[in-house]
Amino acid sequence: MKTPKILLGILASGALLSSCQKQDTPTPEEAKMEETTKQLKISKEELKQIANLHFNTKDAEVIDFLLPNGETKKSFLIEGDILLDQEQLESMSSAKATAKQYRTYNLVSTPRNINVIGFTGGSGQGLTSKQRSALQRAINNYNSLNIGLNFTLTFGTNYGPYDIVVYQNPNGEAGGVAGFPNGGDPYKYVQIFSGMENYSTATNEHVMTHEIGHSVGLRHTDWFSRQSCGQSGESSGADGAVHIPGTPTGYDSNSIMLACFSSSESGNFGYYDQVALEYLY
Ligand SMILES: [Zn+2]
Repeated sequence: MKTPKILLGILASGALLSSCQKQDTPTPEEAKMEETTKQLKISKEELKQIANLHFNTKDAEVIDFLLPNGETKKSFLIEGDILLDQEQLESMSSAKATAKQYRTYNLVSTPRNINVIGFTGGSGQGLTSKQRSALQRAINNYNSLNIGLNFTLTFGTNYGPYDIVVYQNPNGEAGGVAGFPNGGDPYKYVQIFSGMENYSTATNEHVMTHEIGHSVGLRHTDWFSRQSCGQSGESSGADGAVHIPGTPTGYDSNSIMLACFSSSESGNFGYYDQVALEYLY
C-alpha cells in the first residue's frame, strides 16, 4: 500500500476495500439473517479461542466457503479474508505459541516446491484473462525471493493433485480469501472475488500475492489495529507477540499484508514483507 496515511482516511469511505467488504448493501432481512447466523454458529468458547490466537474477533463469522467444484464447506472467516476450520482452530489453540505478529503458528516445511494451478473451469469459478496474468505476476513475486519455497504455476481444471488452487468466487465483491498452512503444507484454496475484474492487473496481483501470503503463513501486518481499513483504536492485546527480527513493530504502510487495500496498488512486496519471508523461509 503506497497511499499515505492522510489519504487513507479520506479513502476509507470509498476506495479502501477489505476482502470481506460487500459491494451491495444487504437488505435488512439479509443483514438480520447474517447476524442470526453469526449468533448461532460462533460460540463464546470459539470466539475466545480466536481471541486467544490474537486474531481480531470483531468481524469473525461463519461462512459457507465456496470450493472450485461448486461445493461449500463451513469455515470461520476472521479479519475479513482468513479462513480457519474447526480442527485448525483446535490445533492452533493447543499448539505452543512461538510467534504471532506476522505469521501464524504453522509454516510450510522447507525446502518445498509448491505446485499452483490457476483454475480455468466453468460455473464462474474459472479465472479471467486478467486474473491469470495477475496470478503469474504474483507467483513471480515469490520466485524472485531468495527463500526455501519455489513455486510452479500451471492452468487447468484438475486441481486435485496441486498444493494451491487459485480460483474465482463469482460474488461480485472485491478481494479474496485464503487460509493458513496445515501439517507443513500451504493452504490449498485461494479465492479471488469476481469484482476484482474492475481493478487493474497490478491490484489483482496485490490481492493474489496477499492471499498466497496467508497460504504460506503470513498474517496481517496491521492485525492489531486494522489501520489500513480506516479503523483505529481497536487494538488487540500484544501478549505473546514475538516480533520477526528486522521488521517494524508499528504500522508498515508499504506491506502487502495489510488487511485492506486500495484501488491503486503496485502489486509488489514491501521491503519488510521480503525481510519477513526471507527470515521465515
Ligand atoms: Zn488478508
